[in-house]
Amino acid sequence: MKVRFFRRREPIVGRRFVSGVSGVSAALVLLAAPLDAAGPSEADLARAAARITAASAFQTVETLSAPGMQGRMSGTDGYRRAADWVVSEVRRAGLGVAEPFGEYRQPFTHGLGGVESASLTVLPIEGEKDARPPEAVLLEDFSPMVNGGSGDVTAEVVFVGFGFHAPGLGRDDYAGVDVKGKVVLALRGEPETGEWKDHRASASRTFAAERAGAAAFLLVDGAVTSTNNSLSRAIPEAMVSEGFADRLLAGQKITVAELRKVLARGGTASFGTGRNVRFTVKGVPWREVTTHNVVAVLPGEDPALRGEYVVLGAHLDHIGDWPRLNPGADDNASGSATLLEVARAAASLKVRPRRALVFVWFAGEELGLLGAKHFASHPPAGLSKCVAVLNLDMLGVGTGLYVAGGENFPAIRSALEKARDRFAPGFLLKSGRIRGEGRADHAPFFELGIPAVSLFSSGAEHHGYHSPDDTIFHIAPKAMEAGGRTVFGAAWALADEKP
Ligand SMILES: [Zn+2]
Repeated sequence: MKVRFFRRREPIVGRRFVSGVSGVSAALVLLAAPLDAAGPSEADLARAAARITAASAFQTVETLSAPGMQGRMSGTDGYRRAADWVVSEVRRAGLGVAEPFGEYRQPFTHGLGGVESASLTVLPIEGEKDARPPEAVLLEDFSPMVNGGSGDVTAEVVFVGFGFHAPGLGRDDYAGVDVKGKVVLALRGEPETGEWKDHRASASRTFAAERAGAAAFLLVDGAVTSTNNSLSRAIPEAMVSEGFADRLLAGQKITVAELRKVLARGGTASFGTGRNVRFTVKGVPWREVTTHNVVAVLPGEDPALRGEYVVLGAHLDHIGDWPRLNPGADDNASGSATLLEVARAAASLKVRPRRALVFVWFAGEELGLLGAKHFASHPPAGLSKCVAVLNLDMLGVGTGLYVAGGENFPAIRSALEKARDRFAPGFLLKSGRIRGEGRADHAPFFELGIPAVSLFSSGAEHHGYHSPDDTIFHIAPKAMEAGGRTVFGAAWALADEKP
Protein backbone atom coordinates (compact mmCIF):
# COMPACT_ATOMS: atom_id res chain seq x y z
CA MET A 1 0.00 0.00 0.00
CA LYS A 2 1.23 3.42 -0.86
CA VAL A 3 1.37 5.59 2.22
CA ARG A 4 0.48 9.21 1.65
CA PHE A 5 1.63 11.68 4.23
CA PHE A 6 -0.05 14.71 2.78
CA ARG A 7 -3.53 15.54 1.86
CA ARG A 8 -3.67 16.30 -1.83
CA ARG A 9 -5.45 19.59 -1.32
CA GLU A 10 -2.61 21.04 0.70
CA PRO A 11 -1.12 24.03 -1.08
CA ILE A 12 1.60 23.10 -3.50
CA VAL A 13 3.98 25.61 -1.96
CA GLY A 14 3.80 23.76 1.36
CA ARG A 15 4.76 20.51 -0.30
CA ARG A 16 7.75 22.05 -2.00
CA PHE A 17 8.85 23.46 1.27
CA VAL A 18 8.58 20.16 3.09
CA SER A 19 10.33 18.21 0.39
CA GLY A 20 13.19 20.66 0.54
CA VAL A 21 14.04 20.19 4.22
CA SER A 22 15.72 17.37 6.12
CA GLY A 23 13.75 14.44 7.57
CA VAL A 24 13.80 15.81 11.09
CA SER A 25 12.59 19.22 10.06
CA ALA A 26 9.99 17.60 7.85
CA ALA A 27 8.63 15.78 10.88
CA LEU A 28 8.51 19.04 12.79
CA VAL A 29 6.71 20.72 9.96
CA LEU A 30 4.24 17.86 9.91
CA LEU A 31 3.60 18.20 13.62
CA ALA A 32 3.14 21.91 13.24
CA ALA A 33 0.54 21.44 10.51
CA PRO A 34 -2.93 22.11 11.89
CA LEU A 35 -4.57 18.83 12.88
CA ASP A 36 -7.90 19.98 11.58
CA ALA A 37 -6.51 20.34 8.09
CA ALA A 38 -9.39 20.02 5.70
CA GLY A 39 -10.54 16.50 4.84
CA PRO A 40 -12.11 15.67 1.52
CA SER A 41 -14.38 18.32 0.10
CA GLU A 42 -18.11 17.72 -0.07
CA ALA A 43 -17.69 17.13 -3.78
CA ASP A 44 -14.93 14.55 -3.21
CA LEU A 45 -17.09 12.66 -0.72
CA ALA A 46 -20.09 12.77 -3.03
CA ARG A 47 -17.97 11.49 -5.90
CA ALA A 48 -16.67 8.62 -3.77
CA ALA A 49 -20.18 7.75 -2.60
CA ALA A 50 -21.37 7.76 -6.19
CA ARG A 51 -18.85 5.01 -6.99
CA ILE A 52 -21.01 2.70 -4.88
CA THR A 53 -23.43 1.35 -7.43
CA ALA A 54 -26.23 -1.16 -7.60
CA ALA A 55 -24.68 -2.79 -10.66
CA SER A 56 -21.29 -3.31 -9.06
CA ALA A 57 -22.73 -4.62 -5.79
CA PHE A 58 -25.00 -6.98 -7.68
CA GLN A 59 -22.06 -8.33 -9.67
CA THR A 60 -20.28 -9.14 -6.40
CA VAL A 61 -23.35 -10.90 -5.03
CA GLU A 62 -23.48 -12.94 -8.22
CA THR A 63 -19.82 -13.90 -7.82
CA LEU A 64 -20.09 -14.82 -4.14
CA SER A 65 -23.33 -16.79 -4.49
CA ALA A 66 -22.20 -18.74 -7.57
CA PRO A 67 -22.23 -22.56 -7.37
CA GLY A 68 -18.42 -22.63 -7.31
CA MET A 69 -18.47 -21.00 -3.87
CA GLN A 70 -20.40 -24.01 -2.52
CA GLY A 71 -22.42 -21.99 -0.04
CA ARG A 72 -19.27 -20.56 1.64
CA MET A 73 -19.29 -22.71 4.77
CA SER A 74 -16.46 -21.48 7.00
CA GLY A 75 -13.45 -23.77 6.83
CA THR A 76 -14.34 -25.32 3.45
CA ASP A 77 -12.80 -24.87 0.00
CA GLY A 78 -15.86 -22.90 -1.07
CA TYR A 79 -15.31 -20.35 1.70
CA ARG A 80 -11.61 -20.15 0.84
CA ARG A 81 -12.43 -19.36 -2.78
CA ALA A 82 -14.82 -16.59 -1.74
CA ALA A 83 -12.25 -15.14 0.66
CA ASP A 84 -9.48 -15.33 -1.96
CA TRP A 85 -11.67 -13.37 -4.32
CA VAL A 86 -12.32 -10.67 -1.70
CA VAL A 87 -8.58 -10.52 -0.95
CA SER A 88 -7.79 -9.90 -4.61
CA GLU A 89 -10.38 -7.12 -4.72
CA VAL A 90 -9.14 -5.27 -1.63
CA ARG A 91 -5.58 -5.56 -2.92
CA ARG A 92 -6.67 -4.11 -6.24
CA ALA A 93 -8.44 -1.27 -4.39
CA GLY A 94 -5.12 -0.38 -2.75
CA LEU A 95 -6.14 -1.05 0.86
CA GLY A 96 -3.49 -1.93 3.41
CA VAL A 97 -2.93 -5.02 5.53
CA ALA A 98 -3.20 -5.07 9.30
CA GLU A 99 -0.33 -6.05 11.55
CA PRO A 100 0.63 -8.51 12.86
CA PHE A 101 -1.17 -10.57 10.18
CA GLY A 102 1.17 -9.29 7.45
CA GLU A 103 -1.43 -10.11 4.81
CA TYR A 104 -5.16 -9.74 4.31
CA ARG A 105 -6.02 -12.96 6.15
CA GLN A 106 -6.47 -13.38 9.89
CA PRO A 107 -6.44 -17.13 10.42
CA PHE A 108 -8.05 -19.12 13.24
CA THR A 109 -9.34 -22.65 13.73
CA HIS A 110 -12.72 -24.12 14.61
CA GLY A 111 -14.46 -27.48 14.64
CA LEU A 112 -16.59 -28.52 11.69
CA GLY A 113 -18.92 -31.42 11.17
CA GLY A 114 -21.43 -31.98 8.42
CA VAL A 115 -24.12 -34.40 7.32
CA GLU A 116 -23.84 -37.20 4.79
CA SER A 117 -27.39 -38.48 5.01
CA ALA A 118 -30.46 -38.20 7.22
CA SER A 119 -33.95 -39.67 7.41
CA LEU A 120 -37.00 -39.30 9.62
CA THR A 121 -39.77 -41.88 9.47
CA VAL A 122 -43.14 -41.85 11.23
CA LEU A 123 -43.88 -45.35 12.51
CA PRO A 124 -47.54 -46.36 12.42
CA ILE A 125 -49.64 -46.78 15.51
CA GLU A 126 -51.45 -50.09 15.54
CA GLY A 127 -54.77 -49.97 13.70
CA GLU A 128 -54.03 -46.46 12.39
CA LYS A 129 -54.84 -45.50 8.84
CA ASP A 130 -52.62 -42.65 7.68
CA ALA A 131 -52.56 -42.11 3.95
CA ARG A 132 -49.52 -39.84 4.15
CA PRO A 133 -46.10 -41.27 3.36
CA PRO A 134 -44.21 -42.23 6.52
CA GLU A 135 -40.95 -40.67 5.32
CA ALA A 136 -40.48 -37.01 6.21
CA VAL A 137 -39.33 -34.93 3.26
CA LEU A 138 -35.92 -33.34 3.68
CA LEU A 139 -36.04 -29.51 3.75
CA GLU A 140 -39.83 -29.59 3.75
CA ASP A 141 -40.72 -31.57 6.86
CA PHE A 142 -37.33 -31.64 8.49
CA SER A 143 -33.73 -30.53 8.24
CA PRO A 144 -30.98 -32.01 10.40
CA MET A 145 -28.65 -29.66 12.24
CA VAL A 146 -25.60 -29.79 10.02
CA ASN A 147 -23.16 -29.89 12.93
CA GLY A 148 -25.24 -32.04 15.27
CA GLY A 149 -24.50 -35.63 16.30
CA SER A 150 -24.89 -38.87 14.38
CA GLY A 151 -27.23 -41.66 15.37
CA ASP A 152 -29.93 -44.14 14.46
CA VAL A 153 -32.75 -43.80 16.96
CA THR A 154 -36.10 -45.57 17.06
CA ALA A 155 -38.13 -44.33 20.01
CA GLU A 156 -41.26 -42.58 21.22
CA VAL A 157 -41.55 -38.83 20.73
CA VAL A 158 -41.97 -36.91 23.99
CA PHE A 159 -43.20 -33.31 23.84
CA VAL A 160 -41.44 -30.94 26.28
CA GLY A 161 -42.94 -27.48 25.69
CA PHE A 162 -40.21 -24.95 24.97
CA GLY A 163 -37.58 -27.44 26.13
CA PHE A 164 -36.31 -25.21 28.95
CA HIS A 165 -34.66 -26.65 32.03
CA ALA A 166 -34.64 -23.55 34.20
CA PRO A 167 -35.73 -24.48 37.73
CA GLY A 168 -34.03 -21.32 39.02
CA LEU A 169 -36.52 -19.30 36.97
CA GLY A 170 -39.45 -21.45 38.02
CA ARG A 171 -39.71 -23.38 34.78
CA ASP A 172 -38.74 -26.97 34.00
CA ASP A 173 -40.24 -28.42 30.86
CA TYR A 174 -38.68 -31.76 31.76
CA ALA A 175 -40.47 -32.09 35.11
CA GLY A 176 -42.77 -35.10 35.27
CA VAL A 177 -41.72 -36.72 32.00
CA ASP A 178 -39.13 -39.39 31.38
CA VAL A 179 -37.21 -38.68 28.21
CA LYS A 180 -34.40 -41.21 28.68
CA GLY A 181 -33.69 -42.83 25.33
CA LYS A 182 -36.63 -40.94 23.77
CA VAL A 183 -36.91 -38.42 20.96
CA VAL A 184 -37.60 -35.02 22.49
CA LEU A 185 -39.84 -32.56 20.61
CA ALA A 186 -39.79 -28.87 21.65
CA LEU A 187 -41.22 -25.63 20.27
CA ARG A 188 -39.09 -22.65 19.28
CA GLY A 189 -40.21 -19.62 21.29
CA GLU A 190 -40.43 -18.61 24.92
CA PRO A 191 -43.01 -17.46 27.47
CA GLU A 192 -44.14 -13.86 26.94
CA THR A 193 -42.89 -12.82 30.36
CA GLY A 194 -39.59 -13.60 32.02
CA GLU A 195 -35.95 -13.34 31.06
CA TRP A 196 -35.02 -16.38 28.98
CA LYS A 197 -31.83 -15.26 27.28
CA ASP A 198 -29.78 -18.10 28.77
CA HIS A 199 -32.25 -20.68 27.51
CA ARG A 200 -33.66 -19.54 24.19
CA ALA A 201 -30.74 -20.49 21.94
CA SER A 202 -31.33 -23.77 20.15
CA ALA A 203 -28.01 -25.05 21.52
CA SER A 204 -29.25 -24.48 25.10
CA ARG A 205 -32.34 -26.52 24.35
CA THR A 206 -30.25 -29.30 22.87
CA PHE A 207 -28.02 -29.40 25.92
CA ALA A 208 -31.08 -29.57 28.19
CA ALA A 209 -32.37 -32.55 26.19
CA GLU A 210 -28.97 -34.19 26.25
CA ARG A 211 -28.62 -33.74 30.00
CA ALA A 212 -32.07 -35.23 30.56
CA GLY A 213 -30.92 -38.35 28.71
CA ALA A 214 -32.80 -37.88 25.41
CA ALA A 215 -31.56 -39.88 22.42
CA ALA A 216 -32.49 -37.26 19.82
CA PHE A 217 -33.89 -33.75 19.62
CA LEU A 218 -36.47 -32.22 17.27
CA LEU A 219 -37.16 -28.47 17.32
CA VAL A 220 -40.40 -27.17 15.81
CA ASP A 221 -40.12 -23.89 13.95
CA GLY A 222 -42.21 -21.83 11.55
CA ALA A 223 -39.95 -22.60 8.64
CA VAL A 224 -37.62 -25.54 8.25
CA THR A 225 -34.26 -23.96 7.61
CA SER A 226 -30.84 -25.42 7.37
CA THR A 227 -29.14 -24.84 10.68
CA ASN A 228 -25.57 -25.51 11.57
CA ASN A 229 -24.83 -23.72 14.79
CA SER A 230 -25.44 -26.68 17.05
CA LEU A 231 -22.70 -27.21 19.56
CA SER A 232 -23.85 -30.67 20.58
CA ARG A 233 -22.27 -33.54 18.78
CA ALA A 234 -23.71 -36.11 21.13
CA ILE A 235 -27.24 -36.60 19.79
CA PRO A 236 -28.83 -36.20 16.35
CA GLU A 237 -31.01 -33.13 16.01
CA ALA A 238 -33.30 -31.65 13.40
CA MET A 239 -35.69 -28.82 12.85
CA VAL A 240 -39.19 -30.00 11.93
CA SER A 241 -42.08 -28.11 10.40
CA GLU A 242 -45.22 -27.31 12.32
CA GLY A 243 -47.24 -29.52 9.96
CA PHE A 244 -44.96 -32.45 10.61
CA ALA A 245 -45.10 -31.86 14.37
CA ASP A 246 -48.90 -31.86 14.16
CA ARG A 247 -48.68 -35.36 12.70
CA LEU A 248 -46.61 -36.48 15.67
CA LEU A 249 -49.14 -34.92 18.08
CA ALA A 250 -52.27 -36.19 16.29
CA GLY A 251 -52.72 -39.15 18.64
CA GLN A 252 -53.08 -36.70 21.54
CA LYS A 253 -55.65 -34.64 19.62
CA ILE A 254 -53.76 -31.42 20.05
CA THR A 255 -51.94 -29.10 17.65
CA VAL A 256 -48.81 -26.99 17.77
CA ALA A 257 -50.91 -23.82 17.47
CA GLU A 258 -52.93 -24.76 20.55
CA LEU A 259 -49.85 -25.69 22.54
CA ARG A 260 -48.07 -22.50 21.56
CA LYS A 261 -50.87 -20.40 23.09
CA VAL A 262 -50.71 -22.23 26.40
CA LEU A 263 -46.92 -22.08 26.53
CA ALA A 264 -46.66 -18.42 25.55
CA ARG A 265 -48.84 -17.52 28.54
CA GLY A 266 -46.34 -19.28 30.80
CA GLY A 267 -48.15 -22.62 31.02
CA THR A 268 -46.41 -25.97 30.66
CA ALA A 269 -47.27 -28.99 28.55
CA SER A 270 -45.02 -32.03 28.64
CA PHE A 271 -46.23 -35.48 27.67
CA GLY A 272 -45.43 -38.63 25.73
CA THR A 273 -47.07 -38.56 22.31
CA GLY A 274 -47.48 -42.32 21.99
CA ARG A 275 -45.94 -41.94 18.54
CA ASN A 276 -42.68 -43.64 17.55
CA VAL A 277 -40.28 -42.41 14.92
CA ARG A 278 -37.04 -43.62 13.42
CA PHE A 279 -34.54 -40.80 13.06
CA THR A 280 -31.15 -41.33 11.49
CA VAL A 281 -28.29 -38.93 10.88
CA LYS A 282 -24.97 -39.97 9.40
CA GLY A 283 -22.53 -37.17 10.05
CA VAL A 284 -19.21 -36.24 8.53
CA PRO A 285 -16.52 -36.87 11.18
CA TRP A 286 -15.89 -33.80 13.31
CA ARG A 287 -12.58 -32.18 12.48
CA GLU A 288 -10.55 -29.08 13.24
CA VAL A 289 -10.34 -26.72 10.27
CA THR A 290 -8.49 -23.50 9.59
CA THR A 291 -10.42 -20.53 8.32
CA HIS A 292 -9.78 -16.80 8.24
CA ASN A 293 -11.32 -13.36 8.43
CA VAL A 294 -10.36 -11.05 5.59
CA VAL A 295 -9.05 -7.77 7.05
CA ALA A 296 -8.14 -4.65 5.06
CA VAL A 297 -7.11 -1.27 6.44
CA LEU A 298 -7.30 2.34 5.38
CA PRO A 299 -4.87 3.90 7.89
CA GLY A 300 -5.84 7.02 9.77
CA GLU A 301 -3.99 10.23 9.06
CA ASP A 302 -3.99 12.09 12.35
CA PRO A 303 -0.84 11.14 14.31
CA ALA A 304 -2.69 11.57 17.59
CA LEU A 305 -5.71 9.51 16.53
CA ARG A 306 -4.09 6.94 14.26
CA GLY A 307 -4.49 4.21 16.85
CA GLU A 308 -8.24 4.70 16.86
CA TYR A 309 -10.37 2.92 14.31
CA VAL A 310 -13.83 2.22 13.01
CA VAL A 311 -14.65 -1.38 12.09
CA LEU A 312 -16.87 -2.05 9.11
CA GLY A 313 -17.85 -5.71 9.06
CA ALA A 314 -19.90 -8.29 7.21
CA HIS A 315 -19.90 -12.05 7.49
CA LEU A 316 -18.69 -13.71 4.34
CA ASP A 317 -19.50 -17.28 5.35
CA HIS A 318 -22.80 -19.05 4.85
CA ILE A 319 -24.24 -22.51 5.53
CA GLY A 320 -22.74 -24.64 2.77
CA ASP A 321 -24.19 -26.94 0.16
CA TRP A 322 -25.80 -29.83 1.98
CA PRO A 323 -28.18 -31.27 0.89
CA ARG A 324 -28.43 -28.64 -1.83
CA LEU A 325 -26.53 -25.47 -2.63
CA ASN A 326 -27.41 -22.60 -0.30
CA PRO A 327 -26.28 -19.60 -2.34
CA GLY A 328 -26.66 -17.14 0.55
CA ALA A 329 -27.20 -14.20 -1.80
CA ASP A 330 -28.95 -12.08 0.82
CA ASP A 331 -27.25 -13.85 3.77
CA ASN A 332 -24.65 -12.48 3.47
CA ALA A 333 -23.21 -12.02 -0.01
CA SER A 334 -25.26 -8.80 0.01
CA GLY A 335 -23.56 -7.40 3.13
CA SER A 336 -20.15 -8.60 1.90
CA ALA A 337 -20.73 -6.94 -1.47
CA THR A 338 -21.91 -3.70 0.12
CA LEU A 339 -18.85 -3.70 2.37
CA LEU A 340 -16.58 -4.12 -0.64
CA GLU A 341 -18.30 -1.17 -2.32
CA VAL A 342 -17.69 0.96 0.77
CA ALA A 343 -14.05 -0.15 0.96
CA ARG A 344 -13.45 0.70 -2.70
CA ALA A 345 -15.13 4.10 -2.31
CA ALA A 346 -13.06 4.96 0.78
CA ALA A 347 -9.83 3.83 -0.89
CA SER A 348 -10.61 5.96 -3.94
CA LEU A 349 -10.34 9.18 -1.95
CA LYS A 350 -6.99 10.89 -2.15
CA VAL A 351 -7.11 11.81 1.51
CA ARG A 352 -7.59 9.73 4.59
CA PRO A 353 -9.79 10.15 7.64
CA ARG A 354 -8.26 11.04 11.00
CA ARG A 355 -8.85 7.52 12.35
CA ALA A 356 -8.34 4.23 10.53
CA LEU A 357 -11.12 2.39 8.76
CA VAL A 358 -10.81 -1.38 9.19
CA PHE A 359 -12.84 -3.56 6.83
CA VAL A 360 -13.46 -7.09 8.05
CA TRP A 361 -15.17 -9.96 6.23
CA PHE A 362 -15.89 -12.35 9.09
CA ALA A 363 -15.69 -16.15 8.90
CA GLY A 364 -17.71 -18.54 11.04
CA GLU A 365 -20.67 -16.26 11.76
CA GLU A 366 -23.11 -19.07 11.00
CA LEU A 367 -21.28 -21.31 13.48
CA GLY A 368 -21.73 -18.85 16.36
CA LEU A 369 -20.09 -15.49 15.48
CA LEU A 370 -16.68 -17.18 15.56
CA GLY A 371 -14.83 -14.74 13.29
CA ALA A 372 -16.16 -11.65 15.08
CA LYS A 373 -15.29 -13.16 18.46
CA HIS A 374 -11.79 -13.93 17.24
CA PHE A 375 -11.25 -10.46 15.78
CA ALA A 376 -12.66 -8.70 18.85
CA SER A 377 -10.29 -10.63 21.12
CA HIS A 378 -7.32 -10.42 18.69
CA PRO A 379 -7.52 -6.94 17.16
CA PRO A 380 -4.70 -5.77 14.88
CA ALA A 381 -1.54 -4.51 16.55
CA GLY A 382 -0.98 -0.78 16.58
CA LEU A 383 -4.68 -0.10 16.66
CA SER A 384 -5.53 0.53 20.25
CA LYS A 385 -9.07 1.80 20.38
CA CYS A 386 -12.09 0.74 18.38
CA VAL A 387 -14.50 3.68 18.46
CA ALA A 388 -17.39 2.17 16.47
CA VAL A 389 -18.48 -1.01 14.71
CA LEU A 390 -20.94 -1.01 11.81
CA ASN A 391 -21.81 -4.58 10.87
CA LEU A 392 -23.73 -5.30 7.66
CA ASP A 393 -25.92 -8.38 7.70
CA MET A 394 -28.39 -9.13 4.90
CA LEU A 395 -28.58 -5.84 3.02
CA GLY A 396 -29.94 -7.21 -0.24
CA VAL A 397 -33.67 -6.48 -0.09
CA GLY A 398 -36.15 -3.86 0.98
CA THR A 399 -36.49 -0.11 1.19
CA GLY A 400 -34.31 0.79 4.14
CA LEU A 401 -32.17 -0.37 7.02
CA TYR A 402 -32.93 -1.49 10.52
CA VAL A 403 -30.13 -0.38 12.84
CA ALA A 404 -29.90 -2.80 15.77
CA GLY A 405 -28.21 -0.72 18.47
CA GLY A 406 -28.99 2.65 16.89
CA GLU A 407 -30.96 3.54 20.02
CA ASN A 408 -28.00 2.65 22.21
CA PHE A 409 -25.50 4.75 20.27
CA PRO A 410 -26.96 8.10 19.17
CA ALA A 411 -23.66 9.22 17.59
CA ILE A 412 -23.73 6.28 15.17
CA ARG A 413 -27.41 6.73 14.57
CA SER A 414 -27.05 10.40 13.73
CA ALA A 415 -24.01 9.76 11.50
CA LEU A 416 -26.10 7.25 9.55
CA GLU A 417 -29.04 9.62 9.29
CA LYS A 418 -26.89 12.49 8.08
CA ALA A 419 -25.18 10.29 5.50
CA ARG A 420 -28.53 8.97 4.34
CA ASP A 421 -29.87 12.51 3.91
CA ARG A 422 -26.83 13.38 1.81
CA PHE A 423 -26.25 10.29 -0.26
CA ALA A 424 -29.45 8.22 -0.24
CA PRO A 425 -32.45 10.47 0.39
CA GLY A 426 -35.68 8.55 0.78
CA PHE A 427 -33.95 5.45 2.09
CA LEU A 428 -35.56 4.50 5.39
CA LEU A 429 -33.62 4.13 8.64
CA LYS A 430 -35.13 2.70 11.78
CA SER A 431 -33.20 2.22 14.99
CA GLY A 432 -33.73 -0.29 17.76
CA ARG A 433 -32.20 -1.00 21.14
CA ILE A 434 -29.98 -3.98 21.85
CA ARG A 435 -29.23 -5.60 25.18
CA GLY A 436 -26.60 -8.04 26.31
CA GLU A 437 -27.13 -10.78 23.75
CA GLY A 438 -26.98 -10.61 20.02
CA ARG A 439 -27.26 -12.90 17.05
CA ALA A 440 -25.04 -10.92 14.69
CA ASP A 441 -21.37 -9.99 14.51
CA HIS A 442 -21.70 -6.69 16.39
CA ALA A 443 -22.35 -8.67 19.59
CA PRO A 444 -18.78 -9.64 20.61
CA PHE A 445 -17.76 -5.98 20.29
CA PHE A 446 -20.86 -4.73 22.11
CA GLU A 447 -20.05 -7.07 24.98
CA LEU A 448 -16.60 -5.44 25.26
CA GLY A 449 -18.26 -2.05 25.72
CA ILE A 450 -17.56 -0.87 22.15
CA PRO A 451 -20.31 1.13 20.40
CA ALA A 452 -21.43 -1.52 17.90
CA VAL A 453 -24.49 -1.84 15.68
CA SER A 454 -25.73 -4.29 13.06
CA LEU A 455 -27.59 -3.12 9.98
CA PHE A 456 -30.21 -5.27 8.26
CA SER A 457 -32.43 -4.56 5.27
CA SER A 458 -35.96 -3.64 6.26
CA GLY A 459 -39.21 -3.18 4.44
CA ALA A 460 -39.27 -6.59 2.74
CA GLU A 461 -39.06 -10.25 3.54
CA HIS A 462 -35.62 -11.87 3.61
CA HIS A 463 -36.69 -14.40 1.05
CA GLY A 464 -35.57 -18.01 1.40
CA TYR A 465 -33.62 -17.40 4.60
CA HIS A 466 -31.14 -20.28 5.15
CA SER A 467 -32.51 -22.23 2.23
CA PRO A 468 -31.56 -23.00 -1.38
CA ASP A 469 -34.00 -20.24 -2.33
CA ASP A 470 -31.78 -17.42 -1.01
CA THR A 471 -30.73 -16.59 -4.58
CA ILE A 472 -29.77 -13.50 -6.59
CA PHE A 473 -33.27 -13.52 -8.10
CA HIS A 474 -34.61 -12.01 -4.89
CA ILE A 475 -31.92 -9.35 -4.53
CA ALA A 476 -32.80 -5.66 -4.87
CA PRO A 477 -29.51 -4.09 -6.03
CA LYS A 478 -30.63 -0.52 -5.31
CA ALA A 479 -31.02 -1.42 -1.64
CA MET A 480 -27.29 -2.25 -1.51
CA GLU A 481 -26.42 0.97 -3.30
CA ALA A 482 -28.41 3.12 -0.88
CA GLY A 483 -27.21 1.10 2.11
CA GLY A 484 -23.61 1.27 0.95
CA ARG A 485 -23.67 5.03 0.39
CA THR A 486 -25.27 5.57 3.78
CA VAL A 487 -22.71 3.38 5.53
CA PHE A 488 -19.82 4.97 3.63
CA GLY A 489 -20.84 8.50 4.62
CA ALA A 490 -21.43 7.52 8.24
CA ALA A 491 -18.20 5.55 8.59
CA TRP A 492 -16.16 8.38 7.11
CA ALA A 493 -17.76 10.91 9.42
CA LEU A 494 -17.20 8.74 12.50
CA ALA A 495 -13.59 8.09 11.54
CA ASP A 496 -12.87 11.71 10.65
CA GLU A 497 -14.64 13.36 13.59
CA LYS A 498 -12.56 15.84 15.53
CA PRO A 499 -11.66 14.62 19.00
ZN1 LIG B 1 -27.26 -16.71 8.23
